[in-house]
Amino acid sequence: MIVVMKPGSTKSEVEAVIKRAEQMGVSTHPIYGESRTVVALVGDLTRVSREVFDEMNGVAHTMRIQEPNKLTNRTTQPEDTMIDIAEGVRIGGKEVIVMAGPCSVEDRDSIVEVAIAVKEAGAKVLRGGAFKPRTSPYDFQGLGEEGLKYLAEAREITGLPIITEVMTVETVPLVAEYADILQIGARNMQNYGLLNAVGKVDKPVMLKRGISGLIKELVMCAEYIASNGNHKIMLCERGIRTYETATRNTFDLNAIPVLKQSSHLPVVADPSHGTGFREFVPAMAKAAVAAGADALILEVHPDPENALSDGRQTISTETFSKLMMDLRRIADAVDRYIAEPDVQDIADFAELEAVA
Ligand code: PEP
Ligand code: MN
Repeated sequence: MIVVMKPGSTKSEVEAVIKRAEQMGVSTHPIYGESRTVVALVGDLTRVSREVFDEMNGVAHTMRIQEPNKLTNRTTQPEDTMIDIAEGVRIGGKEVIVMAGPCSVEDRDSIVEVAIAVKEAGAKVLRGGAFKPRTSPYDFQGLGEEGLKYLAEAREITGLPIITEVMTVETVPLVAEYADILQIGARNMQNYGLLNAVGKVDKPVMLKRGISGLIKELVMCAEYIASNGNHKIMLCERGIRTYETATRNTFDLNAIPVLKQSSHLPVVADPSHGTGFREFVPAMAKAAVAAGADALILEVHPDPENALSDGRQTISTETFSKLMMDLRRIADAVDRYIAEPDVQDIADFAELEAVA
């Protein structure tokens, strides 16, 4: 059940609703939206009467929510969730945010080089894995904390906020110290311990769809994070396993409008993992923007052939620059936009490079 507060309701009116609900033995989750506040009541509602709340000061009305995802569904919050990542970087609004960078952080110089290149092309967030979930234990596992430090250095130089994966409950505090967005990888979509842990952290989380995850399961996993108090969640479509073998995964474009309809959370598309082949990435990146994605996450490397992980699906910095121009036109066509790169910053980089 949700208690919808009137526009302009006071903090003490919201607190009174919370107190009353807690007296009835149910847990409460206030959601402070752009235009209204709602208090979601979850637990055993059999003895909770709606009338009690309907009559309270500041309450507009109450509603029963049928869907199992009480906090993340559109009925609870009709307007889109917008997440502020850094100054001028907001995910879930009219601007389509592009996150780009290598699959793995490989060394200090290459992450700084790629950060400058993607920023010059208009990316707003730098990606790079320091803790890597690899299929084989003999493959490069990432640089760990050293990688996080290089990411932080690249952020210092370019101003780009960073997204990086956290794989275990124990490393949540460490990764959260460095990252602007915590990434939960596909293999951990249903790692409930990890979801509970990132749910207690005050950092945005990008939750990737599991390789065999249903859309409704993805949303329920987001619900775990939200039910712990962290509402800054993005849902990421990254391809699913089907009978098709022509591509690494089958990029489920359907998931984008389906998720946008059923949830208020921003939707991110990852056509790099979605396709597995760099030659298909631009087409599916454009398709994702056309389908309504709020952000893209793309694997970009100065020399993809020699990348330490996922090189086959990684585009070069040149391809990325060209793609950004095409993406701007697609965004325009669907009444969104992708900002032009910051010219002043590029001038500053040129100076930096000249000094170096
Ligand atoms: C990645 O982003 O590099 C990654 C490992 O993604 P996924 O969890 O979707 O496989
Ligand atoms: Mn990867």
